[in-house]
Amino acid sequence: MPHGYTGKILRVNLTTGETTVEEPDARFYRTYMGGWGIIAYYLLKELPPGTDPLGPDNLLVFATGVVTAAPVGGAGRSAVGAKSPLTGAFGGAEVGGWWGTELTMAGFDAVIVTGRAEKPVYLWIKDGAAEIRPAEHVWGMLTADVQAALRQELGDARVRVAQIGPAGERLSPIAAVMHDVNRAAGRTGLGAVMGSKNLKAVAVRGTGKKEIADPQALQDVARWYVEHYPTTWAADLHDIGTAGGVSQHLEGGLPTCNFQRGTFDEGWEKITGERMRDTILKDRDACFACPVRCKRVVEVKEGPYLVDPIYGGPEYETIGALGSSCGVSDLAAVARANQLCNAYGLDTISCGVTIAWAMECFERGLLTAQDTGGLELRFGDAAALVQTVELMGKREGFGRLLSEGSLRAAKAIGRGTEAYAMHVKGQEIPMHEPRIKYGLGLGYAVSPTGADHMHNFHDVDFANEEGIASVRPFGILEPLKFNDLGPAKMRLAATAIPWQTLHNALGFCMFVASSSKPLKIVEMVRAITGWDTSLHELLKAGERVYAMARAFNTREGFTAADDRLPTRFFEPFREGPSAGNALPPDEFERARLTFYQMMGWDEKTGAPTAWKLHELGIGWVADKLRLGE
Ligand code: SF4
Repeated sequence: MPHGYTGKILRVNLTTGETTVEEPDARFYRTYMGGWGIIAYYLLKELPPGTDPLGPDNLLVFATGVVTAAPVGGAGRSAVGAKSPLTGAFGGAEVGGWWGTELTMAGFDAVIVTGRAEKPVYLWIKDGAAEIRPAEHVWGMLTADVQAALRQELGDARVRVAQIGPAGERLSPIAAVMHDVNRAAGRTGLGAVMGSKNLKAVAVRGTGKKEIADPQALQDVARWYVEHYPTTWAADLHDIGTAGGVSQHLEGGLPTCNFQRGTFDEGWEKITGERMRDTILKDRDACFACPVRCKRVVEVKEGPYLVDPIYGGPEYETIGALGSSCGVSDLAAVARANQLCNAYGLDTISCGVTIAWAMECFERGLLTAQDTGGLELRFGDAAALVQTVELMGKREGFGRLLSEGSLRAAKAIGRGTEAYAMHVKGQEIPMHEPRIKYGLGLGYAVSPTGADHMHNFHDVDFANEEGIASVRPFGILEPLKFNDLGPAKMRLAATAIPWQTLHNALGFCMFVASSSKPLKIVEMVRAITGWDTSLHELLKAGERVYAMARAFNTREGFTAADDRLPTRFFEPFREGPSAGNALPPDEFERARLTFYQMMGWDEKTGAPTAWKLHELGIGWVADKLRLGE
């Protein structure tokens, strides 16, 4: 077994109550690495095609990576995956904090849950042992209360809890799996999968230690990063958090009023990271071993929107989705809405973008107070925002429909409202504008999980000499404009997207990765595992994992026709510094095909070709898909 892994995967069958442990060989780990790699492997191998995402046969996988729990900044990440109830496609979400680290210390690289318990249960994992325990007493409770109750019951304040809130229990397809109460594996509705299995929580405690092949070499990398990050953009992350993104998107890229605009002139100054720092910030928080401490802890003690610091504070994505996208500039209201999402277990992006859809439809007269149960859903109404989030968390009133996500809600309402649902494959768009970042738009369209920014790239990062330096080791030498969609940009996409996917498979934070250097990451993986690895091997690993997720979608019936963006992104901004900017449809189409060719995907089906899967060393996936040579 290579260093860096425990070599053990815990399997839990909630129908039979059985728990078993399997021990994959060293080749498995070097091929699939962790995170999405492990998730995609088991979904492809074991999940029958066409499985109901909310049926007992769906697999729910919690997976760490080779870097998770290593004593180096950014090592606090892990991933959750299943077939998504939101999209019907590959479901995957990453999360930071401490839970993944604790799982490693408890002796497992991953946990695979199948079946369905008859009554609510939670899983208790401690130092190599696992037990299924009753959870009826915490079912229906908010996440912070559950965490406190389980810690008390287990007699250890250091127990780490991954759990669902009431939204997941009630099977909302935009429900998150909350970790440590204030970090969400938010995307693709995995909370509903947990709810469908009657699994309230996975509580973990480990006192073990990650085995490192070359501790001194790893210490050198860790020290280099501590000295290096203050000279990079990660220094801003420490100071103002990811919320710094609000003032970094003033070129017209701040999604406003359901992506109708890219500027929020009337309110952006009130929801910036700087404003948060100077008003409601109580503390900065870190994931395991990270010197950056980019996480916010906010508190509001008076006024209509009280905020409890236990739920952390809003990230850039949350401020964009629940703030500018809904036209809301009241920072306390946004922080309160963030708290409600964390307490009820909702993905803040999908939640905010769905409310923004409803606000636009209401203002256009496509939704009325009769539909909404009397709610006046207008852009800028902070009270309506907060009330709606709570209804969505409880799945009550009009909130029940909205907690299905924007596409399903639009389909249920009809009347042309679907045109305003901002999604790809049914998943709501994150807070980065394809009319400002053309290549990122392509990344949204082709993503196996639907629109996502986590395994994507930001054109603006590669538009100048300084930015392009980070990809020179891959042979990409020239800066590229944000609105370039030519073959050179697609070559960048075909490198940057697999590289971002690799970070997920390693269990390594993308912020630390992007303020580091690719060759430092190679050095780090070598030090942890003892592998004679290279940039080439790691990039191929990222590509392999991405191809497996795409292959899963092919098997579930997805085709190239599903790689589409909302039409709004092909219509020009009417105002602001980016007035006139729009994705050119023909160029975008050409870029998509070029990207397919570079990735070795079939032009018509969008599936990875058999030759590509063989080239990536996973010919068995081609056999499973019955792809011809
Ligand atoms: S940079 Fe932020 S998100 Fe990443 S590991 Fe550090 S504290 Fe966590």
